[in-house]
Amino acid sequence: MQDMTATSNDVDAAKKALTPVDLRSDTVTKPTPAMRRAMAEAEVGDDVYGEDPTVNRLQARAAEIFEREAALFVPTGSMGNLVAIKTWTQPGQEVICETGAHINQYEFSSMSFVAGCMPRAIPAPDGLLTWELIEPMLQIKHPHKADTGLIELENTHNVAGGTVYPTHVVEDICDHAHALGLRVHLDGARIFNAANYLKKGVAEITSKVDSIMFCLSKGLGAPVGSMLVGSLEFIQKAHRYRKSFGGGMRQVGVLAAAGMIALEESPKGLANDHKNARLLADELSRMPGIRLDASKVMTNIVRFDVSGTGRTAAEICGELKKRGILAGPFAKYAIRMVTHYDVGRAGIERALEAMREITRK
Ligand SMILES: *Cc1c(COP(=O)(O)O)cnc(C)c1O
Repeated sequence: MQDMTATSNDVDAAKKALTPVDLRSDTVTKPTPAMRRAMAEAEVGDDVYGEDPTVNRLQARAAEIFEREAALFVPTGSMGNLVAIKTWTQPGQEVICETGAHINQYEFSSMSFVAGCMPRAIPAPDGLLTWELIEPMLQIKHPHKADTGLIELENTHNVAGGTVYPTHVVEDICDHAHALGLRVHLDGARIFNAANYLKKGVAEITSKVDSIMFCLSKGLGAPVGSMLVGSLEFIQKAHRYRKSFGGGMRQVGVLAAAGMIALEESPKGLANDHKNARLLADELSRMPGIRLDASKVMTNIVRFDVSGTGRTAAEICGELKKRGILAGPFAKYAIRMVTHYDVGRAGIERALEAMREITRK
């Protein structure tokens, strides 16, 4: 018996050594065994009739955690953002966002061709807007310019490297916006990462924004799904747009069941992802040719510049791949590595070892 255990452990260890360490994104996380079990056993109904008990439970729980009136399950974060933009704006308006915002860079201009709005993109240090940056870009009842219809913030900020808004900055933006009758939507795809960094609850750090989108996939590990959270009135309107965008789903409790575990259990694991990102950043910043301000790494995203190595990001990622490490070339000389629960400490050590070998040459 003991021998057999030893043998299967050896096989497991060998398999692990061969499994690629995938640091391209936290979107690569696979559902946990508990999620798969919950999916198999999920109680379901037709959610278009509002009759899926698992979806209803997930929506109620998300609303409760964020201390809001209501929540809505959406298939993707992109649809959640688009539904929010469509709900808050009129065609012909502008949406203020940071230049690197996901809604500006990675959602295929959907706010323009679906919601009929233009992004008014503002560059900000570390991707974090302030009221001082926003105010000069506002257009309200201007004789020649489109009205500002919405302000959008992203927390954590993806392309800036998982940076986190100080909560008072978000609140200051909301207070000023509300005084002018403007709404603030939060792209909180990784809001649980931000909450972990700030050591506060998600409700506390989002209390003043008008609507929130967050992902159950990515770091929280659900195979599919995001949530919109806000007032009952907002969610009722959003529900109609979700349907008109083709997002009305039927026995979708099979997905909500995994989402429920993502929501209840996964946030506890994010501290570990952040610890791994810190280790990665600290060690990478000491390697020759790598430029990285490790002090700016707050959550699970590590971006670094490799121009000092004399090689491009694509070349280095190619070298990494040969060693079983997957990372994303982000720009010609920039690489992004994202930590998540499918890569443990041993995987991080393997990635670092590979980077040491590559940068030594
Ligand atoms: C991933 C992501 C989204 C969109 O989520 P999808 O489910 O991939 O559509 C939105 N915003 C940010 C910041 C993201 O990282």
